[in-house]
Amino acid sequence: MQTPVTLISFQDLLAAIKAPGDSRDILDPATGEVVAAAPVHTTADLEAAVTAAEQAQPAWAGLSHVERSAYLNQAADAVEAAAEGLAELLSREQGKPLNGPNARFEVGACASWLRATASFELEPEVLVDDGGGRAELHYRPLGVVGAIGPWNWPMMISIWQLAPSLRMGNTVVMKPSEYTPLSVLALAAVLNQVLPADVLHVVSGGRDVGEALSAHPGIAKVMFTGSTATGKAIIRSSADTVKRLTLELGGNDAGIVLPDADPAAIAEDLFWGAFINTGQTCAALKRLYVHEDIYDGVVDALAGVAAAMPMGVGLDEANVLGPLQNKAQFRIVADLVQAAKDAGARIVTGGNPEENQPGYFYPATVVADIGNDNPLVAQEQFGPALPIIKYSTVDEAVEMANGLDVGLGASVWSADKDAALAVAARIEAGTVWINKHGNVDPRLPFGGAKQSGYGLEFGVEGLKQLGAPQVISY
Ligand code: NAD
Repeated sequence: MQTPVTLISFQDLLAAIKAPGDSRDILDPATGEVVAAAPVHTTADLEAAVTAAEQAQPAWAGLSHVERSAYLNQAADAVEAAAEGLAELLSREQGKPLNGPNARFEVGACASWLRATASFELEPEVLVDDGGGRAELHYRPLGVVGAIGPWNWPMMISIWQLAPSLRMGNTVVMKPSEYTPLSVLALAAVLNQVLPADVLHVVSGGRDVGEALSAHPGIAKVMFTGSTATGKAIIRSSADTVKRLTLELGGNDAGIVLPDADPAAIAEDLFWGAFINTGQTCAALKRLYVHEDIYDGVVDALAGVAAAMPMGVGLDEANVLGPLQNKAQFRIVADLVQAAKDAGARIVTGGNPEENQPGYFYPATVVADIGNDNPLVAQEQFGPALPIIKYSTVDEAVEMANGLDVGLGASVWSADKDAALAVAARIEAGTVWINKHGNVDPRLPFGGAKQSGYGLEFGVEGLKQLGAPQVISY
């Protein structure tokens, strides 16, 4: 089943993406230059993709877990062979630099997630075996999975959606964000060098294609990662076909720094928790609550780290922060910081973008002395601007952290592990990290509380969500 891998360089990948029919230019958010043209698929293309995926599914489901896992491992090999080309394309389309926890890191994570997903064991669970009878819980493939993704981590999130889907014996139709279709098309072209025909399709269209996918009777489940507003639209459009849904939606993660933390020791980890991918990360730290005793120390240490981090064009090896991916996101961040300034908050560093530059660069910004009801705190900024709120008692900090209707991740920072664990238990979020933030792991189930979504990804728990549970009783 091994096929020779030929897609390796950036140019190979662009050639593989090229397709007849309508296309539109995708611009580099750092320079405004054209990266390449992306095909514009329609709902008719979606129909063809779903039909092909439906036809391919029984044979794929007929393979054993061991055989499908072997395919996932080969897919990981193909990603590794094409890693530099994929990272360059991702950097130019999404904006994230090659270095730091960015493009090369994302491509590496694609390969490691494929391998981890291949390695999970999923044996039938024996529920009853008492002499009177036996019952087992099995997980069967669902059929065709629709995967709809965002523009912030386009390759890695695609893998999070497709790897467990394929492993369970489903085939997949992906609908990438209209901002980053090239990254997903190129990734799929690399994977399709080793996967059987029609097991994985990409339909590169806009919202209309996403809507049609969510309503399509041939789609058994939708894996969706994106905003809470779109998640709600998908719940509605999938209702008539009672689709299974995994919804990984928006977050506005809180971090709570307890009074015994050492500001200098935690500043760099706090920075990356908040500013990874220039803040465009679902489970980034988006509002930081710091005890009044160490407030100034944390603000100054964090601002010092932020001011020193190089930001610029992604292909420059020195940079670790890039532009916002698109103009709309730039405006959201700029307007929220302006609103904070207008309300009297203190801009400790950043907050002064050069408006007449070609790229959507917004400097790493730390905002202090800000009220908890300020829009920069209450809304998801999804960019490089962190508000730091002062608190006096832990009860007050927990109440503010839990005060929003989202709860993806959260973190507690302290030198006292037991104190941190006690606070973690009171926070309404799908994951609570201690002395770190946002560190996802393919072995650990990940998902949101409240309006950050439902369903889990990763680990054996995530794998089970791509299967139809079936009890066999005899
Ligand atoms: P978005 O919701 O605007 O778009 C996501 C995808 O949905 C795109 O492919 C888009 O074309 C498609 N879409 C839009 N309208 C649709 C509809 N009515 N029906 C079906 N599909 C539709 O999100 P975005 O701006 O690309 O991503 C940013 C958001 O995603 C942030 O809120 C962020 O927190 C969230 N996010 C969450 C996670 C997580 O794991 N929870 C991860 C990454 C991003």
